[in-house]
Amino acid sequence: MDFRDTPEEAAFRSTFAAWLEESLPESLRGHRSGAGRSEDGALRDWSRMLYEAGYAGLTWPKEYGGQGLAPSFQAIAFEEEARVGAPGHIGVIGLGMAGPTLMAHGTEAHKAQHLSRILSADEIWCQGFSEPDAGSDLAGVRTSARLEGDRFVVDGQKVWSSFAHVADHCLLLARSDPASERHEGLTYLVVDMKAPGVEVRPLRQLTGEAEFNEIFFTGVEVPVHDVLGDVGGGWQVAMTTLLHERGTLGFALVARLAIAVDKLVELARDRGATPAQREAVALEWIELQGLKVTAYRSLSALARTGVPGPEGSILKLQWSEANQRLTKLALELLGPDAQLVAGNAPYAGYWQHQQLRSRGNTIEAGTSEILRSIVAERVLGLPRSR
Ligand SMILES: Cc1cc2nc3c(=O)[nH]c(=O)nc-3n(C[C@H](O)[C@H](O)[C@H](O)COP(=O)(O)OP(=O)(O)OC[C@H]3O[C@@H](n4cnc5c(N)ncnc54)[C@H](O)[C@@H]3O)c2cc1C
Repeated sequence: MDFRDTPEEAAFRSTFAAWLEESLPESLRGHRSGAGRSEDGALRDWSRMLYEAGYAGLTWPKEYGGQGLAPSFQAIAFEEEARVGAPGHIGVIGLGMAGPTLMAHGTEAHKAQHLSRILSADEIWCQGFSEPDAGSDLAGVRTSARLEGDRFVVDGQKVWSSFAHVADHCLLLARSDPASERHEGLTYLVVDMKAPGVEVRPLRQLTGEAEFNEIFFTGVEVPVHDVLGDVGGGWQVAMTTLLHERGTLGFALVARLAIAVDKLVELARDRGATPAQREAVALEWIELQGLKVTAYRSLSALARTGVPGPEGSILKLQWSEANQRLTKLALELLGPDAQLVAGNAPYAGYWQHQQLRSRGNTIEAGTSEILRSIVAERVLGLPRSR
């Protein structure tokens, strides 16, 4: 693969970079991921600006309000956003998971109702997959969806649901056949988060912020026309969502890691790194070069097939572990100053925050253990563990 921009890509890069320079509000420059719900309003406004300027849904087909561009253009946009520390679109789940799932399994009515509103940030989505006893083992889902006439009645609890506190709709995986087990008898529903019986409670995480939530469903009515795919065929639909979750995020994560490595190099210079610390910084830089190539490889596969492959798991796994090591190394470079977390902390507490947030990265979208199993079985073709 030729890593250089084509003339069209170079033109897109410079136009987008100039637009970012001109349009990004000062308050959002150098944005930290996971900055918490106080910023939701500003992020929604920013997402609308991206949409109005034609920078939301770059790879989505034009008929659904996207720009119909190749994945390489989205990759360039991620790189430019990372370079100035611009936040991405607030509709992480809508753009990356709900949209592709609706395009693959939704009816024409679903597509007409939701897709352009996801792009414009008029609709925010959340993912209701995990439950207290069903995380890595998603087939253990117990939230029930009981068919009563022309509607399902949903009862149960979801957990760790990012954006549920601002979401308009939820991608819900529920058990519609109470006698079923594991992957059978599951149905995938689009749930209106404002429907009676939906209750969202925030969960506070290690950073002190509350990015995710519990969702309780008590007798929530969902019309049958809001089923995606077949009744009882929810597992297949959920797999589409998960492939997109891991597959499309990868490039953005690597672009942001590249900026974090630059900052780490700067920090090592500022703080006078020991020889061992210098070596550790160099190793992170080397790891990044490998990850960049892996990101390009999965980008080429995506451009060829239009569907993210299981290789997306490599990027998510390596990025999340690298990010954790890198932020830990930064705290070592800060020495005793790393104990300061509030206003007096060096670099406004950037590294402390990043280290605390990085702990969740190796859990969300598949834990490291689960991703290693996926790589072993689905990329390397090794026998299944069970
Ligand atoms: C920041 C964040 C955001 C999230 N957002 C969402 C969201 O929006 N929607 C949503 O539905 N969920 C979300 N999650 C939940 C996430 O998908 C789950 O936490 C994850 O799948 C792990 O499930 P669990 O927490 O139940 O842990 P468990 O599955 O109970 O795992 C516990 C430990 O056992 C290990 N383990 C489990 N099974 C195996 C196995 N077969 N082989 C080897 N090791 C194993 C795991 O790796 C882990 O170390 C989020 C999580 C985080 C941290």
